[in-house]
Amino acid sequence: MSNKPILYKSTNQRAPAVNFEQALLKGIAPDGGLYMPEGIPRLSPGEIHGFSDAAYHEIAFAIGRKFLTGEIPEGDLRRIVIDAYDFEVPLERVYDRKYVMRLDQGPTASFKDFAARMMGRLMQYFLDRKSGKLLILTATSGDTGSAIANAFYGLDNVKVVVLFPEKEVTARQRKQMTTLGRNVTILSLNGKFDDCQALVKQAFADSELDYLNLSSANSINIGRLIPQTMYYFYSFAKLRSGDLDEEVIFSVPSGNFGDLCGGLIAMNMGLPVRKFIVATNENDEFPKFVESGIYEKLVPSRNCISSAMNVGHPSNIPRLVALYGGNMDEQGVINTAPDLDRIREDMYAVSINDGETEAMIKDAYEEHGLLLEPHGSVSWAGLQRYLQENREERDQLCISLETAHPAKFPEKIREILSLDPELPPSLQGLEERKESYEHLPEGYPAFKSFLRDNY
Ligand SMILES: *Cc1c(COP(=O)(O)O)cnc(C)c1O
Repeated sequence: MSNKPILYKSTNQRAPAVNFEQALLKGIAPDGGLYMPEGIPRLSPGEIHGFSDAAYHEIAFAIGRKFLTGEIPEGDLRRIVIDAYDFEVPLERVYDRKYVMRLDQGPTASFKDFAARMMGRLMQYFLDRKSGKLLILTATSGDTGSAIANAFYGLDNVKVVVLFPEKEVTARQRKQMTTLGRNVTILSLNGKFDDCQALVKQAFADSELDYLNLSSANSINIGRLIPQTMYYFYSFAKLRSGDLDEEVIFSVPSGNFGDLCGGLIAMNMGLPVRKFIVATNENDEFPKFVESGIYEKLVPSRNCISSAMNVGHPSNIPRLVALYGGNMDEQGVINTAPDLDRIREDMYAVSINDGETEAMIKDAYEEHGLLLEPHGSVSWAGLQRYLQENREERDQLCISLETAHPAKFPEKIREILSLDPELPPSLQGLEERKESYEHLPEGYPAFKSFLRDNY
């Protein structure tokens, strides 16, 4: 294998290509675009089939080294993936060859742990070598904040400040962030998620804060994208029949489309994917786009019970468009049309409303004993819709992604199924732990003073 680093180019095409380290630490390209690998590395069918007996971290290593060659020595990369992926990835058989992949066994019981844990360790690695420091600012409406806070907790060179709207997160979500301490600082605000996001954006744009080396850990960072290719390989390797021509159908519950872009990159690396079911909630800008070829962002976004997918303009769509030869800017304007025929060939996009999401939680449990939370239910419902409309596909291997643990949504599950999902180990004992967070007065000046006084 060549030892030349892969370069990462901006989807806006007006910034120089950089290596992985620079793309990771910068987050967003200077032209406002998103970083994408200039050439997507390939895995041979032999390499992919060879994963059948491998542990998750071994597959993560084999994929990670393709992207990081020449930038991280293999011994260090191996240590990073072993440390990041020390939890199970259950593949639950539902019926025939239909499976649910549970990505909910990490420390915050969200699939965001996969990306956040690896990104945090990669940042730590690069900063260590140059004695650099970073201050991560993140606004959250719940899941992202806890995944990032947990992933960076205890790292030496990275400090984290998370802003959350006091009244918009559940007590359990709040405690997942506020019981950590050390390098993690949590600030609450009156107001909405958008207000938190606005403060973070203002801080990034404030040159008087340049000395803090601010960075964001949101879903556009290339460091989050690459780890999201790995579980696609893992699940296919574990579930394939042995037939060398076999292909797999994945169903992906989509909000900001980072998860889906990870899958599309996996396919471009050689994973034999027959179809991606792209399942959204009522925020249906993507299914509409696939149908009509016209992209219109939804402002404001629609509130659905799969709350982590309430996104009116998914920030990873420009990456998807780039993978199909098109160009879209960060505002959602298409400058060059992507190959829609090819998009339709690879993807089946479907919007599932709240009524259907709730009904599927009930049906899946009653028919198959399958316990889903709202995001996983959107995904499973999307897959069922596809199989109904395409009956010739009935015998294919299908894997639906479950992105959060049902115990994160106890009220909804109780209401629909009259049962209390068992807490995974990661969420146990949370009630008793001591919380610590500060309430921030309104307005940017208070936030800025907080940052200057404390960092
Ligand atoms: C973030 C999230 C999603 C959506 O993932 P994207 O990569 O943003 O499409 C789905 N389900 C859960 C539980 C999430 O937290």
